[in-house]
Amino acid sequence: MYVQDRLFIDGAWTVPSDGGVLEVVSPHTEDVVARVATAGPADVERAVAAARRVVDDGAWSRRDPQDRVAVVRRLAELYEARIDEMATLITAEMGAPAMWAGRSHTRLPWAMIRAFADIAESYPWEEPRPGVYGKDVTIRREPVGVVAAIVPWNMPQFLIVTKLVPALLAGCAVVLKPAPETPLDANLMAELCAEAGVPPGVLNVVHGGADVGVALVGHPGVDKVSFTGSTAAGREVGAVCGRGLKRFSLELGGKSAGIALDDADPAAFAAAQRVAGLMNSGQVCTALTRLVVPERRQDEFVDALAAMFDSVAVGDPSDPATELGPLVSQRQQHRVRDYISVGEAEGARVVVGGSTPPEGLDRGWYVRPTLFAGVDNGMRIAREEIFGPVVTVMPARDDEDAIRIANDSDYGLSGSVWTADPGRGMEVARRVRSGTFGVNQQYPMDPAAPFGGLKQSGIGKELGREGIDGFVEVRSIAAV
Ligand code: NAD
Repeated sequence: MYVQDRLFIDGAWTVPSDGGVLEVVSPHTEDVVARVATAGPADVERAVAAARRVVDDGAWSRRDPQDRVAVVRRLAELYEARIDEMATLITAEMGAPAMWAGRSHTRLPWAMIRAFADIAESYPWEEPRPGVYGKDVTIRREPVGVVAAIVPWNMPQFLIVTKLVPALLAGCAVVLKPAPETPLDANLMAELCAEAGVPPGVLNVVHGGADVGVALVGHPGVDKVSFTGSTAAGREVGAVCGRGLKRFSLELGGKSAGIALDDADPAAFAAAQRVAGLMNSGQVCTALTRLVVPERRQDEFVDALAAMFDSVAVGDPSDPATELGPLVSQRQQHRVRDYISVGEAEGARVVVGGSTPPEGLDRGWYVRPTLFAGVDNGMRIAREEIFGPVVTVMPARDDEDAIRIANDSDYGLSGSVWTADPGRGMEVARRVRSGTFGVNQQYPMDPAAPFGGLKQSGIGKELGREGIDGFVEVRSIAAV
């Protein structure tokens, strides 16, 4: 059993001042697999004070940006060496199938660390701009200061890296608040950062529930809150930051559309949804959970999707053949099963799946991959984020109707279109209001390009150059 009774604060594993202990329960066996120290109010104070000190004394914030790039490159090397260990921890704590734990959960974050280092190498930290009064103005991009990075459990390393690495490169200090379900990967990341040469105080990790997040968001020593989580919590975070005029960015929920135009191939469309809708057991903010198919060919598309859903391998996440593991927690399992019942009560048709447990999997927090047809976009299962392996199919009369349905959502995180005509696909892409969009593929989350939601899916951008922009303050200096 993994046990860590100390918190990583100010560069050392320290005994909590007033924290407690949280138990990590395996989503597959329901057994306790780890015990980890949590932070109390005094620990949050210590963590913020350590971060404040290194921002204010300039030890990291005023260091040559290329030195920080070198530390991050070293982090990437160390990360690679322990990538399998990281993947195993993520499977243990949140039930991610090994197939995905070794890819999007770890190798993608590793690629992101390197991509951020490349971007930072040529980032315009200080540059002259020709002014209108005949003299250059110096534009400086300086660290925003102490960052509270608050993340959920669903893609823990991906989400930590999108915040921690650009913040480090910008010269910020970070207090990281992982989700209580996934403390283990965060502790390994702290170890790797220390080994890479991130100075004491520049990264601090405070474990615990929402109360620890609330304490950080309201803390006057925190300059910026970088939050990923539910839209409901994001609203609270934004309101508190607004009152304190604290900088903030929000990466929130989604209900993204996957559109098939009338010239799309049903088999190829269905094959793509295997990952787009069901990866990580559907616990992905960008999952395509509203499929919009041509009305005249609806049966062909539903049949192809049903065959795909029927063939998904559900089971033990440590088995390399497993595609769909358990959900993260019993709470999440109940929530998703309740939504399946809501869909049935609303009159949608369960084509595959349902709210009973998958055969032979009574233990563990499993839910059957469930495909609903006969869905209307006004139903709750089409409007609310379910965050599990539940996908709805809706018919559209033509391209206009498909775009209308895709846009008829409070969310605007991602989306995709499939068509034999790439020009037609680009036209749909231009008109759907979402932060990212894929043509004939799920948006591939390219670390070079900005990622972030429109509408209720968030405020601000992560990844790409814009991912570093989120951790700097821009200043203008004119000298004569
Ligand atoms: P959540 O909002 O309940 O919790 C997220 C994190 O915030 C946790 O660490 C939690 O302890 C903390 N927290 C909760 N309430 C808080 C508050 N009022 N103040 C400060 N911190 C608080 O989210 P969840 O249910 O654990 O995660 C799933 C959600 O995250 C889904 O809605 C999903 O779409 C979203 N998500 C979004 C993205 C994105 O990039 N847009 C990525 C992954 C997940």
